Amino acid sequence: MQDFPREANVYLKDTRHVKILFGLCYPSTYRAGMTGLATHLFYSLLNGRPDTSCERYFRFDVPSPFHSIESRRPLRENHIVGFSLTYETDVVHMIQMLELGGVPVWARERAETDPIVIVGGPAVSANPEPFAMFVDAFVIGEGDQAIHDITEVVMESSSRQHAIDTMAELEGVYVPSRPRSAIRRLVMRNLDEVFHPTRQVVPDVPPGDRHEPVFGRALLVEVTRGCSHSCKFCLVGHICRPHRARSLQTLQNIVSRGLHETPVAKVALIGSSLGDMDQLEELVAFIVSGNHEFSVPSLRADSVTMSLARMLVQSGQRTLTIAPETGSQELRRAIGKGLDDDAIEQAVSIAAEAGIKSVKLYFIIGLPGETHDDVREIPTLVGRLYDISHIRMTVSVNPFVPKAHTRFERYPQPPIEEIRHRLRIVQRGIRDIPQVQMESLDPRLARVQAALSLGDRNMAMVIRLAARYGGLGGWRRAERESGVPFFSVANNGDRLSDELPWSFIQV
Ligand code: SF4
Repeated sequence: MQDFPREANVYLKDTRHVKILFGLCYPSTYRAGMTGLATHLFYSLLNGRPDTSCERYFRFDVPSPFHSIESRRPLRENHIVGFSLTYETDVVHMIQMLELGGVPVWARERAETDPIVIVGGPAVSANPEPFAMFVDAFVIGEGDQAIHDITEVVMESSSRQHAIDTMAELEGVYVPSRPRSAIRRLVMRNLDEVFHPTRQVVPDVPPGDRHEPVFGRALLVEVTRGCSHSCKFCLVGHICRPHRARSLQTLQNIVSRGLHETPVAKVALIGSSLGDMDQLEELVAFIVSGNHEFSVPSLRADSVTMSLARMLVQSGQRTLTIAPETGSQELRRAIGKGLDDDAIEQAVSIAAEAGIKSVKLYFIIGLPGETHDDVREIPTLVGRLYDISHIRMTVSVNPFVPKAHTRFERYPQPPIEEIRHRLRIVQRGIRDIPQVQMESLDPRLARVQAALSLGDRNMAMVIRLAARYGGLGGWRRAERESGVPFFSVANNGDRLSDELPWSFIQV
């Protein structure tokens, strides 16, 4: 690929002077991988070790998915290959990368000279079982310290198998080939004491380039982890507890140092519940006072203030993202969102008055207890918000995906036809509201996500074949050929009355 961009802050080590070669893999696009803080965090942590060379691999939009970006190092030459799985469906891309890179896809078929395949990320931390046959060891929870422990185990072990067996003794590491015992999720208690990358890799690309990270050329600054709420459907609210925030002083130091070491003029604040940080406005004022721009991901509606919205506009952010989840206030309360209509209306009104040009609204359909009347309240709410603000709105309506460890883990997903019917209700309802457009996830893809969220090891062959065939049709064909029930896992409530496949993970 000729047009791959140059990047700042890349590490290129002389491998004759290191002991461990680590392949850091993101099984999706370069853009998605470079938008995630995990890529920057583990890249800096590992390359900060004099004994380790860490190089990056992505599935799409790179010269090769199995040669590193930095030195074209073949994937199979690494001692450790580490994947971060943000979405369950990325498992097929992970398998494709292994296969293209000449690493045996099934963990049991790997030999002494093959890399050890480590996987972490929110999807596998909740329920690693569907992926277990492809993975040598999982990191359950936050891997900031575990990544060092694993690297050292591999360095000190006499053989590949010895290393994997020793990893099973590490806290928070799950080795699926060993007898199963309880695994406690790893949590970093005090974020002020946790390393934060300040020298981050940025591609030299113009705005809008397909390699440009989602937040633009920006320094990513992780403000919070976890969330102080626990909406019944939300993975973050259940498996990333407790809510923690870095102190203002620490964040200011990270911003100052980061903007010195990373050649960008913008800061992208990261965190699932940013509004819960007491001094968010002070932090933003500090960034803006240095003539730097900033952006925030979605905000809870009740944390949008006029001064924050004005600073966002001053920084060039044109869109505010909030997640009402439902149109009906009663259903919103029932799912634990704890946000009333007034707060949503006020947030959109503040945004419009401050000069925000568009609002993105996230809704879920098919939630337990939802009626068609509840679904009709989505366009009603959107209509009211338009009347208040007269600004452009994108309404993102996605099917409910039950997730392991959430309060809704045993609830089935409605049948695909029913989901489609509810989508049509919303579509018809917003048709006449000006400047509103709707987007939604394909219900069939949501079905695959749900099956992978709730599944167990039996579905390994389905996953293997789906990776071979590719696309949505590939999942159907894989289910048929393997003879293993797959799609029905997502809406079979009875099956889930038994012991859950993820019950050994202690969150
Ligand atoms: S939906 Fe948002 S507010 Fe609710 S638990 Fe998840 S991250 Fe927190």
